Amino acid sequence: VIIGGGFGGYEAAHRLKKADVDVTVVDRKNHHLFQPLIYQVAAGALSEGDVAAPVRAMLKRQPNASVLMAEVTDIDVTRRQVVLDRGERLDYDSLIVACGGATSYFGHDEWRDVTCGLKTLEDALDLRSRIFGAFEEAERAPDPAARDEWLTFVVVGGGPTGVEISGQLAILSRQALKRDFRRIDPRTARVILLDAGERVVAAFTEPTSARAAKELSDLGVTVREHAMVTDIDAHGVSVKVGDQTERIATHTVVWAAGVRAAEVAGILARASGAGTDRAGRIEVNPDLTLPAHHEISVIGDAAKLDGPDGRPLPGLATVAIQEARHVADAIRHGGAGASTPFKYFDKGALAVVGRGRAVCEVRGRRLYGLPAFLMYCGVHLFYLGGVGGRRLTVLITTIGSLFGARENRVMPGELEAVDRNALSTPLTGS
Ligand SMILES: Cc1cc2nc3c(=O)[nH]c(=O)nc-3n(C[C@H](O)[C@H](O)[C@H](O)COP(=O)(O)OP(=O)(O)OC[C@H]3O[C@@H](n4cnc5c(N)ncnc54)[C@H](O)[C@@H]3O)c2cc1C
Repeated sequence: VIIGGGFGGYEAAHRLKKADVDVTVVDRKNHHLFQPLIYQVAAGALSEGDVAAPVRAMLKRQPNASVLMAEVTDIDVTRRQVVLDRGERLDYDSLIVACGGATSYFGHDEWRDVTCGLKTLEDALDLRSRIFGAFEEAERAPDPAARDEWLTFVVVGGGPTGVEISGQLAILSRQALKRDFRRIDPRTARVILLDAGERVVAAFTEPTSARAAKELSDLGVTVREHAMVTDIDAHGVSVKVGDQTERIATHTVVWAAGVRAAEVAGILARASGAGTDRAGRIEVNPDLTLPAHHEISVIGDAAKLDGPDGRPLPGLATVAIQEARHVADAIRHGGAGASTPFKYFDKGALAVVGRGRAVCEVRGRRLYGLPAFLMYCGVHLFYLGGVGGRRLTVLITTIGSLFGARENRVMPGELEAVDRNALSTPLTGS
């Protein structure tokens, strides 16, 4: 049984194609999500079908694999059974837990209601509606202060996700939407990236972080480092910089600051007695199995394993894929899980800043600008896979977007009702 049909889970199932085993992939979603590109869905550059494919369709040519769309609610490690949301139980000889992560608000769960995460397809679609809705609201705003609030976008967290979405927001407002409105000028929109640390994309070296920050500010993003968010509500964000606390009035806050292991990791830890780190990731043996359960392996974002430098392996798709191969190969050869230590092959890191702009570090080499962007496109298209023809569609859309092709700006819903008595200025003129 494999819990999760994301990067790790799908790869493990696929790798077991020729093995003499029955594979059941359980996922509460019907789709495998290509998370590295979901910021493009949020910004309207790609559509949902470009980044998500049904797990069932991806495994349809694998007769030994079946897919169940269900939520895992418990794991009975004594009976070796996975318990599903309707009480069904699945027996397993080997269990691979690839449940991934979820957005973490560092103890401020109330911020979930007033921000938008960027982890799931629903998050991306919700954010797309909020972004385009904000411009629509600004066009209808009764006074300059209200308009400015709608035209201010705050992104919290300067990791790759925060950098990608803020760059994309700047491009959207400065280039893509610049002629679409009459009462507002979308180019006046403010995109503010807040990071509590010393520099953005801190997993890269200092020169690369500095380059990413410069590229962002060239695009029009205000990058603020050492800026600690202390409060968020429906009207804005409070930020502490040094001894000063200031307020940024906005209705659109993208939360790209924290990730923790999915809930099922906690369920497994309690059931098996395995340890977890602060982010809820399960501490695994060097071979990715659980200390007291050789038949249970945890991989991907839900696992905590230190790399050769003594730091935990990063939450990257490439880590999840390599771990999946390590475990699946051992099962293919008759083991219940792996028994040799997992060795991560570091393929480098990439972050895209905007159209034609990216930063990349591979084995001590740095690449910036268009070459890094082309490498980013190549790597993502290579890994995108999924269902037939998707790579081509995304390639065409990506090339199109470089030349200013139109975004998917459709909002499925309506703007929320406002108190009309609160409108101080008639909605006429420009
Ligand atoms: C916005 C963003 C951008 C990223 N960009 C990059 C990048 O450029 N390069 C890179 O290498 N990595 C990137 N990552 C990280 C990468 O996506 C993750 O490291 C990778 O998805 C981890 O794979 P996984 O298999 O552990 O989990 P996931 O791929 O998240 O899959 C977990 C699956 O488990 C399912 N699941 C969870 N709980 C349950 C349950 N209780 N019952 C049933 N199913 C369940 C989920 O529905 C999901 O399908 C990015 C992540 C994000 C969010």
